[in-house]
Amino acid sequence: PSEVTEAAIAREEAHAAHNYHPLPIVVESGDGAWVTAIDGRRYLDCLAAYSAVNFGHSNPVLLDAARTQLGRITLTSRAFHNDQLGPFVESLAALAGKDMVLPMNTGAEAVESGLKVARAWGYRVKGVPEGLANIIVMGGNFHGRTISIVSFSDDPTAREGFGPFTPGFRAVPYGDASAFAAAIDENTVAVLIEPIQGEAGIIVPPASYLPAVREICTTNNVLMIADEIQSGLGRTGATFACDLVGVVPDLYLLGKALGGGIVPVSAVVGNSDVLGVLHPGEHGSTFGGNPLAAAVGSAVVGMLATGEYQQRAAELGERLAGRLNELVGHGVVAVRTAGLWAGIDIDPALATGREVCELLMERGVLAKDTHGSTIRLAPPLVITPEDLDWAVDQLADVLAAL
Ligand code: PLP
Repeated sequence: PSEVTEAAIAREEAHAAHNYHPLPIVVESGDGAWVTAIDGRRYLDCLAAYSAVNFGHSNPVLLDAARTQLGRITLTSRAFHNDQLGPFVESLAALAGKDMVLPMNTGAEAVESGLKVARAWGYRVKGVPEGLANIIVMGGNFHGRTISIVSFSDDPTAREGFGPFTPGFRAVPYGDASAFAAAIDENTVAVLIEPIQGEAGIIVPPASYLPAVREICTTNNVLMIADEIQSGLGRTGATFACDLVGVVPDLYLLGKALGGGIVPVSAVVGNSDVLGVLHPGEHGSTFGGNPLAAAVGSAVVGMLATGEYQQRAAELGERLAGRLNELVGHGVVAVRTAGLWAGIDIDPALATGREVCELLMERGVLAKDTHGSTIRLAPPLVITPEDLDWAVDQLADVLAAL
């Protein structure tokens, strides 16, 4: 790294908690799929802030919505109404084909909120005896970092040192509908599931799996909660990854791209027979539904309502899958893709995922490893076909040189 980069990193490391291990690049600006570092070098962003920047850095439509709202009002709290929240929840509900939205800020908050709603629904609607509700989760899940969420993680790094844990969750293997059915009892209120597991390495279950889960939920009066925080909002070539297999969950959990890469915006989206269980005072957030977030969120929903970004992700995704599959056997053990989202398993005998990401960075491509030998590509959906090809060329060159 250049001297200016090293100095900037040292400054951050001296006082920021060390809960991340970033690549040694210090970004100062971004435009579309590209970012510029403080030493003037440009990089193609193939992570897009874990899919939070689906519409690209400095997207003019989103910036315009944010700037306009900055000049009006940014925060009222929900002690009062604001004129942006109504249009936002109306449009988001319509996009999801539901009728109610609970606005929050971060992904983990949307997950926590969805779990609370499911428990309350269980007691108040399903008739589960107070205190006995259980929620089924999946092996290999990633839903965030709060204590309750890490309570049902099976990743030791996420859990160790953070107990005691929240009870009421049981895990079953991802992709196994029979195991899910067998885990349900009369006190099961919900299943929490990523339709495609992101952090686990873009794990795409068999096409029959989510429809089977949906069916089992319906038969057993169990809520299906789809965590689409990373998979949703265009990434997979559809508005929701659930759409790819024709499944409609009871609750969608959304985040990341919902804030357009500008502000944290998350939401639980469902119908009033479920979300309507919440009464005033039972749940909330000072910043949830704030006018700035709502204005940006409305602009995001407006962009998705055209279907243009989903289409683009589907088309570019096919191109990406084709190019990546050519690398299998050439340093790559396996590739999994869904739209413009790829998990690439590097041959562990050659290099770790981290090493490949460092080599890619030297060539001007930013990507992120996950689980040792897997690297994830999730470029902004506005990336050009030429830039996408160039990124894969860099990966091919890195692998050829190992
Ligand atoms: N759920 C999924 C599927 C995610 O991928 C993430 C973040 O990576 C989260 C929840 C948590 O979101 P946040 O980091 O905004 O709390």
